[in-house]
Amino acid sequence: MHNIKDTTLMNTCSYINGNWHKSDSSFKVLNPATGELIVQVSDAGADEATLAVQAAKSAFKSWSAKPAHERANLLRNWFNLMMTHQEDLARILTLEQGKSLAEAKGEIAYGASFIEWFAEESKRVYGDTIPSLSANQKVIVIKQAIGVVAAITPWNFPNAMIARKAAAALAAGCTFVVRPAAQTPLSALAMAELAQRAGIPAGVFNVVVGEKASEIGQVLTTHPDIAKFTFTGSTAVGKMLIKQCASTVKKVSMELGGNAPFIVFNDADIDEAVKGAINSKYRNAGQTCVCTNRIFVQKDVLTVFTEKFTAAVAKLTVGNGLNDHTDIGPLITSDAVDGVAKLVDESISQGAVLAMGGKRHQAGSHFYQPTILTQVTHDMTIAHSEIFGPVSTIIAFEDEADVIAMANDTEYGLAAYFYSRDIGRVWRVAQALEYGMVGINEGLISNAAAPFGGVKQSGNGREGSKYGLDDYLEIKYLCMGGIE
Ligand code: NAP
Repeated sequence: MHNIKDTTLMNTCSYINGNWHKSDSSFKVLNPATGELIVQVSDAGADEATLAVQAAKSAFKSWSAKPAHERANLLRNWFNLMMTHQEDLARILTLEQGKSLAEAKGEIAYGASFIEWFAEESKRVYGDTIPSLSANQKVIVIKQAIGVVAAITPWNFPNAMIARKAAAALAAGCTFVVRPAAQTPLSALAMAELAQRAGIPAGVFNVVVGEKASEIGQVLTTHPDIAKFTFTGSTAVGKMLIKQCASTVKKVSMELGGNAPFIVFNDADIDEAVKGAINSKYRNAGQTCVCTNRIFVQKDVLTVFTEKFTAAVAKLTVGNGLNDHTDIGPLITSDAVDGVAKLVDESISQGAVLAMGGKRHQAGSHFYQPTILTQVTHDMTIAHSEIFGPVSTIIAFEDEADVIAMANDTEYGLAAYFYSRDIGRVWRVAQALEYGMVGINEGLISNAAAPFGGVKQSGNGREGSKYGLDDYLEIKYLCMGGIE
């Protein structure tokens, strides 16, 4: 089926308490490149979400009590299985999400790398002893798993957005319930299949797949047995879910939208800047939260950068992600294509100049041409909208102070990029940019060792790195008295 060698990775039911749970109705999972039906998936709702929370609650006591190295070994098994099945997992991912097979393989390796990373980090959850103010007391700090974690994840990274959260949660000793986006449930279910094979006990990792996002979301944000809620998605939905979590005062972390500036200073290495801009803009057809959204180019290098960048974009191949040589796949829905087309048309009517593309692509109803708009200005709608498509906007600037002001003039603060070889400028600009992550002469910045996350309305909390476990741990202070 679909050239997937291990067809048992293609599951169609929610995975709850170690079992595949069939629901009464089903929904369609479509291939965004062709519109074809891939498979019908059992449509879970609030009842199944509640069952999954109960399973996670029951499993918590024994999972959190396991010695860290035992949890680490199981996570390591899961990592190994994901890498063994990288090709099949990538194919499933491309089928339901659209990105090129090469990018999908990269996402599987990236997702798995968080499982490997946190398997190792789980052994290093250290506490503290603090010198006491009193002679007969000892002050000790321990860290404990927070409890049941619920997650909601988006369609743009159907594997990695789950892996980044689940790996840290399970490593910390938490149990986990995830509801993936309805467009991309298959990658999540394939992860569940491999978690089961890895020996991760029933109830520790649960996947609830269903079309009724708000119904399942209501359970996952209000159930009193859930201690922590973690979300990756749009800022608008994130804000609503934070409010829902308030009723039971859950610990919350949010990975939300972005409006990344990409700044090219006069002293930049232009070829490197072009390479970085291509990587950070056109990956996943422009549908990533850290995608470059605004390219600011200093006046002296505007012409040379634009020429070289346009030549590089012209080489990108659009098509079905399963075809060899595809660089840019489809957008996730035809609504997404409509949204991108509207933004481009509006920009042109506001004075932007079309340097390339600007139309729907002949490959199908979900495709849009790689596009470059020049003479964009900071006051245009597109400069303040998350484009989420293969469209670059080039904005000219005069000096450092101007560009920093424009770059920071957004409610978002996820990723920013800039290119310069002046060491003084590098420090000044790195410090001045109000973003959680800054790529300096680098367009691809995310990896398991680094803390991923945003400031302002791009969210809170960090995923990956030595800091990533903190979101899943509580600090407990022990005051031992009566010590002579
Ligand atoms: P979205 O509409 O917010 O959806 C994200 C997830 O929330 C999906 O699973 C969606 O389910 C679910 N959802 C939607 N409405 C809900 C509700 N009322 N209650 C509970 N769940 C609900 O975001 P999107 O447009 O699909 O995804 C793209 C966004 O994610 C962009 O803004 C992007 O920047 C952001 N993102 C951020 C990061 C990061 O790490 N900061 C990473 C990736 C993406 P359905 O899809 O089934 O409706």
